[in-house]
Amino acid sequence: MAPHVVLTYDDGPEPGGTDRVLTALADRQATATFFVLLTRARAHPKLLDDVISEGHEIALHGQDHRCLTQFSFEEVRRRTQDGKAELEDMTGHGLSWMRPPYGRQTFASWRAVKATGLEPVMWGPTTWDSRHISQSERVSKALGGTVRGSILLAHDGYASLADGVDDGPVPNVDRGDLTRRVLEGLSDLGLQGQSLSASLQCGSPVRAAWFKR
Ligand SMILES: [Zn+2]
Repeated sequence: MAPHVVLTYDDGPEPGGTDRVLTALADRQATATFFVLLTRARAHPKLLDDVISEGHEIALHGQDHRCLTQFSFEEVRRRTQDGKAELEDMTGHGLSWMRPPYGRQTFASWRAVKATGLEPVMWGPTTWDSRHISQSERVSKALGGTVRGSILLAHDGYASLADGVDDGPVPNVDRGDLTRRVLEGLSDLGLQGQSLSASLQCGSPVRAAWFKR
């Protein structure tokens, strides 16, 4: 097996994003972990099914995209538990991972997520695909910081008012093209993209403190 990096996609499923990412991943025989929003999964169940049927891993990003740090311990625990249960019902698979929106968590919210049996997962390098920059800048940013074992952050959607947040205008990103170019660059570095669970079959996780409001 080639040395690999963990590919992660947040904020989907989204028509025009998720489907293009799936095609690009399939072209390179890469797998990924998709951190989905319940607001999106309910609206696009077919896309969610496509992610699973193409061999990728589903994880929880949240009931919506609101930052967990505004909620009490009990609210985070309940929201995460309910989201986990609903997503497990929809997918027919047990979940292992949760990524807090914006990577923002306190020690209390981290403990609340852990209390549901999910493991919070952060990231290392990023594609900067939420920013209004050029595609080649995104590819450079992603490849510049990626080494064997990295968890790379990318997005197959963009959270909006329907997800409980207002993060401004949607960036102009061809998410399939970005995935294709990043995978080509990784391949040139001798690296293959894989989901988190697949990666952990031949490696061990790095644990580090990551708390920010
Ligand atoms: Zn997100």
